[in-house]
Amino acid sequence: MSEETGAVRSNFITDIIDEHLENGRFDRVHTRFPPEPNGYLHIGHAKSICLNFGTAEQYGGLTNLRFDDTNPTTEEVEYVESIQADIRWLGFDWEDRLYFASDYFEAMYDYGVALIRRGKAYVCDLSAEELRQTRGTLTEPGQNSPYRDRPVAENLDLFERMKQGEFPDGAKTLRARIDMASPNLNMRDPVLYRIVHASHHRTGDDWCIYPMYDYAHCLEDSIEKITHSICTLEFEDHRPLYDWILDALEVFHPQQIEFARLNLSYTVMSKRKLLQLVREGFVSGWDDPRMPTLSGMRRRGYTPEAIREFVDIVGVSKANSIVDVELLEHVLRDDLNEKARRVMAVLDPLRVVIENYPADQEESFEVPYFPGDRAESPTRMVPFSREIYIERSDFMEDPPKKFFRLAPGAEVRLMNAYYITCTDVIKDERGQVVELRASYDPDSRGGMSSDGRKVRGTLHWVSARHALAAELRLYDYLFTQPNPYDVPEGGDFKDNINPDSLQVVRGAMLEPSLSGAEAYQPFQFMRQGYFCPDPVDSKPGALVFNRTISLVDTWAKLQK
Ligand code: ATP
Ligand code: MG
Repeated sequence: MSEETGAVRSNFITDIIDEHLENGRFDRVHTRFPPEPNGYLHIGHAKSICLNFGTAEQYGGLTNLRFDDTNPTTEEVEYVESIQADIRWLGFDWEDRLYFASDYFEAMYDYGVALIRRGKAYVCDLSAEELRQTRGTLTEPGQNSPYRDRPVAENLDLFERMKQGEFPDGAKTLRARIDMASPNLNMRDPVLYRIVHASHHRTGDDWCIYPMYDYAHCLEDSIEKITHSICTLEFEDHRPLYDWILDALEVFHPQQIEFARLNLSYTVMSKRKLLQLVREGFVSGWDDPRMPTLSGMRRRGYTPEAIREFVDIVGVSKANSIVDVELLEHVLRDDLNEKARRVMAVLDPLRVVIENYPADQEESFEVPYFPGDRAESPTRMVPFSREIYIERSDFMEDPPKKFFRLAPGAEVRLMNAYYITCTDVIKDERGQVVELRASYDPDSRGGMSSDGRKVRGTLHWVSARHALAAELRLYDYLFTQPNPYDVPEGGDFKDNINPDSLQVVRGAMLEPSLSGAEAYQPFQFMRQGYFCPDPVDSKPGALVFNRTISLVDTWAKLQK
C-alpha cells in the first residue's frame, strides 16, 4: 500500500490535484468524507473514505468528517455513532475536524438572503406537482414560474416568513433563478429550500425550512475551505449547479471531482435497500455478518487491512462497473493467511475410541500456531486421549479408490499426534455409523512413524474429553444472483435473496486452546476455513464462531 512504500499513487484525481498545485489554484489539499447519518456505512463508503483520507494523506493534507444532516426526517444518533466507530476501525482519523452540516443552517440561511438580494433566488408558490409539470423534459424547455420576477423586497419578506413558520409544508420554496431552458435539468431554477415542519436530531424545532442537498453541499464545502470535493459519478450533472451557487455568492470555491462508485457482485449497496433487509427481518441487524456494512464485515471477521487493500487494488475510475466479490474474498484470505492461528476444530464430529490407548492416560503435544516455515511461531499444548472426534466426512465405510482418509482397515495420520488404523465400525439400529474403533501406533508420536512407513491421509481431530462444544455459523452470499437487481418485470431485489445464506452448525468440537479466543480474533480451523468468535453472541461456555471465509479461493484459481 502507498503509505508503506511512501510513493504517491497516481490516478485521475491526483492528476487534477497536481495540476491545481502547479497552477496555483490551491496550495494545499483538504478533503472531506460527508456521510448522511441515515444508515450504517458499507464497503462502498469504505472506498470513499479511503479515497478522501488516503488522497489527502498522500499530499500531507487534511480530511474532515462531516455529517450531512440536512434532511431532518431520516437521521438518527445511532448512525452518527456507528459511522465514527467504523471510520476509526478502518484506521482513519479526522482529529478535531468533526462537523455537522446542521451547524451551518444559520449561515446557509444568510446565503439564501444574499442570493435573493443579488436577484439570484426567489420564493415560489408552486406546489411540488406544479413544479414537476413546469420543469420540462430532456427535449423540451421548462416554463418560467409566475413568481420568478417577484421583487427582491417581497422575496426577502416571504423567505423570512417561511423561516418563521407561517406557511405549511410544501406551500412555498426558495428557488435559484437560473434558466428554465437549460439543457441540464438541474439548472432549471432548482429548489434551494423547502418547508418541512419536522424536528431535527440536532437543531430540534429551531428550523422548519431545510436546505436541499445541492444547495447545502457546496456551501458546506466552501465554509470548511475544502479544496477537493470528491464524490460519486451521479453528481457529475450537478456540478454546474455546485459551481453556479458558489460563483453567484462569490465565496471560496472548491473543486468537485466525481469517480465511479464501488459495486460488488452478489451485493446490494444502497442504504435504503439495506435498511429494508434489516426492517423486514431478512438479516438480524445492520451488523449481521452477511451484510456488506463495515459493522457486519467486522463481525464476520474481515480485517480493516483487507478492506483497505481491496479498495486500493480496485482503484478509482470514471466508469461504473461491478467488481467480482471473489476479488474481495481473495484479498481477505491473503490477509488472514498471515494473521490467523492454525487450530483444530471438528464441524461434524464422529467419535473414535482408540482401544489400545489406556483409558486413564492423556498427553499433550506442543504445536506451533503457524506450522511450516514460519520461524518463532507461538505454540499451544494440544491434549490427546483415548477418545477423539474426527470429521464425519473423513470416514467412509466403502470408500472409492482415491479416498486416502479413514476406512475400515485403513491407516491415517492424526495431525501432530499418532497414526491410527480403523479396526471396527459401530452403528445404531438404523445402520448409521455412530462410532469407530481404532488402534494407534505408539511409535508414531508427533505424526511420524519410526519405520518410515508412509500414510497418505492426515486428519484433524480433537480429544473428546477436552473438546469445547461450539456453535458455528457458516455464510453464503445473501443473494443468488451476481446482480441482485436482475429480476423479471414487476419483481423486486428481495426475490433474489438466498434462503440458504446462513447455516448454523451446532455441536461442533473445538480444541481447548480456543477457550481463550478473543472477539474478532482470526483463526484458521485447519481444512475448514477462517473463523472468529462472534463478538455479540459468543460467551464462555457457549462459544459461537463465525466462518469469515472458506479456504477455497476460486478467484485465484480463475486467474491461473
Ligand atoms: P447509498 O446510496 O448507499 O445510500 P449515499 O451516497 O446516499 O449511499 P452518503 O452517506 O451520502 O450515502 O455517502 C457518503 C459518501 O460516500 C458520499 O460521498 C458518497 O458518494 C460515498 N459513497 C456512497 N456509496 C458509495 C459507493 N458504493 N462507492 C463509493 N462511494 C460511495
Ligand atoms: Mg445520500
